[in-house]
Formats: sequence, structure tokens, C-alpha cells
Amino acid sequence: MLNFKTASICFFIECAALSLLVYFFDICLWWFLIPVISYKALIIYGSARIQSNFYVKTICNSTTEEKKIAITFDDGPNSEYTKKALDVLVEYNAPATFFVIGKNIQGKEDLIKQIDAAGHTIGNHTFSHSFLIDFKSKNGFMYELNTTSDMVYAIIKKRMKLFRPPYGVTTPNLASASKALNYDIIGWNIRSLDTTSDSEEKITSRVISQIKPGAVILFHDTSEKTIKVLKQTLNFAAENGFKVVSIEELLRIKAY
Ligand SMILES: [Zn+2]
Repeated sequence: MLNFKTASICFFIECAALSLLVYFFDICLWWFLIPVISYKALIIYGSARIQSNFYVKTICNSTTEEKKIAITFDDGPNSEYTKKALDVLVEYNAPATFFVIGKNIQGKEDLIKQIDAAGHTIGNHTFSHSFLIDFKSKNGFMYELNTTSDMVYAIIKKRMKLFRPPYGVTTPNLASASKALNYDIIGWNIRSLDTTSDSEEKITSRVISQIKPGAVILFHDTSEKTIKVLKQTLNFAAENGFKVVSIEELLRIKAY
């Protein structure tokens, strides 16, 4: 598997080889563009694609052949839609994982209690979820994770162990911080795109067409359309013999 370390070693070897060629054979310097552009492209790909395991190991699905799937929500808690999602999940007796943003917890502590009391899992999705979060230092990421962890701990007395990086972007500093704090990084293999697409039908068909044993679905508990898609997804799962299980059961990990 190509990761950051291997890609960096290859880049330096290529540059060293080209330097020798320039020195001995006076080749054109434009040749350096090949390793530079390909290294840059790999960095962008590795950062943006959580499934690539480029900087850090991420768990995105299970390889089980059993018809089990897990549902996850990012960006809550949300006063309106987290509650609605909880109501739908009770109706279908389905567990889910809520990756919460620390700054959204303030004033919604009861909702955190409610999620936990209903048997769902709570994971860390940083404190600020800032658009510029990927430029943070290791300490910056540790602060983001610790602040949210302390907030959740104060409410439910459980120390979160699962972390989902905002936007699914990973960086070397994020990797170091999550390793230092002993988090498991949880990705997904079905991205609903429920925050970018307006069509409930398109989102539903995108999700259910990809459902297979071991799948981890990414939703956001931030809009009415996601609640509708959630219902359709749970109907599809029930009609097709898929059992919705907790992320702990599906991935055989501990959440706290
Ligand atoms: Zn998010």
C-alpha cells in the first residue's frame, strides 16, 4: 500500500537520480517536474481520500460476508434533526453512531444524553470543524479532540475513542494527534452526499445501490432530506435482509 512515507522516499530517490543525470549528462531541468507533479498529486489524493490510509490507518468498512451494515451521522448534535433521526432509529430498532462537533454540544447536552441513553455510539468530530482545520498543528488537533472529549465525558462519563476527521481529510498532524491520543479513525465506504445533493431520490438511490455486507454509511443529521433518506435506507435494509448493527459490532472495535 502506497503511503506518505513510501511516496516521500520515492520522491527523494527520483530527485537524487535526476540530480545525477543533470550533473553528468546535463539533462534539462524540466525533467524535475515529473516527480514534483506526481508527488503533489499523491499528497492531494492521500489527504482527500480517507480510504487511502495514506497518512494514518482508517477503518472504513468491514470485510464480513454477513449482511450487516452500520449507519453514521456527522456534524451534530442538531436540535431538530438529531432528534428526528433518533425517532426514526427507534422505530426501526437500529443503532447508529453520531460523530459530534464540540461547539454544537453547548446547550444541547440533553441531546448527547439522549443519544447515549438510546444505546447509540458517540464519536469525536473535533471541536470547531473549521474549514481551515487541515492547517492545524499536532497540538491544535489535540486541543480540538480533547475539548470535545472533555465535553462529552462531562455529560455521559464515557471517554470517546473513535474519531472521524472533518471532510474526511487527513494530514500528518492529524495522524500524529490521533495516534498520541489513541483514537481509532473511522471513515466510510458509502458517502451519501446528503449535504451537497438536493434530491432525496438521488441520495437514496446513491446509498442503497452501494449497500453490501460490511458497509459503513455516512449521513449528516443536519437536514430534513437526510431523515427521509434514512427511512428509505432502513426500509431497504429490512426488505433485503440487511441488519443494521453498531459500529463496534461491525468493525469489532471499542468506542470508549
Ligand atoms: Zn463533518
